Amino acid sequence: MRKSIVLKKLVLPVQVLLSIVVVLINGPAIIAGTEKVTAKLVFAVHVVALYAKAPDQKLEMPVQGVTRSQIADTWHVPRAGDRLHEGQDIFAQRGTPVLSATDGYVVRIGENSLGGQTVSILGAGGRSYYYAHLDSYAANLAIGDHVTTQTILGYVGNTGNAAGGPTHLHFGVYAPEGVLNPLPLLADRPAEKNTARTPRIEPARKSR
Ligand SMILES: [Zn+2]
Repeated sequence: MRKSIVLKKLVLPVQVLLSIVVVLINGPAIIAGTEKVTAKLVFAVHVVALYAKAPDQKLEMPVQGVTRSQIADTWHVPRAGDRLHEGQDIFAQRGTPVLSATDGYVVRIGENSLGGQTVSILGAGGRSYYYAHLDSYAANLAIGDHVTTQTILGYVGNTGNAAGGPTHLHFGVYAPEGVLNPLPLLADRPAEKNTARTPRIEPARKSR
């Protein structure tokens, strides 16, 4: 039997199982309306499909106008409290657009003490991309939205433990097997897109 057929046979039962789990967890949502449940099921199927895909080998620069050579490597630099820096800091002026480095789905939008205002995107291979210290979020960005490398997630700032310091994006890549250094994966965006005064901006697509 060919590999793709085996994979397809595997994916369907997993999708069905995951859908049942989602329905069980979200009992109150079922009462709230079938529309919401359908959206959650669609989202669950998207997530399973993403896990089955090979992870991105190349990440598009997440800060508009910045090139790879401008990034000073801060991977695993010691930080307060015996922490190692798990990501890269990409410095830019406050308000510079932060674009998704990959295709994926918005799985988290929220504030925490270290990262400040953050967005997490789930991409292919179950990798999670973490965008932190945002000054603000892109208007109407919501959990479950599909994003592409043209989608603005938010704007560079210094929220969280970056408060008072220079504005930058903290970019983290979390694979199922552990945290990865984003720098070797990062690629410059095409120059014409990078220097355009008004970039083509796609609002996040609503999956519901
Ligand atoms: Zn950082």
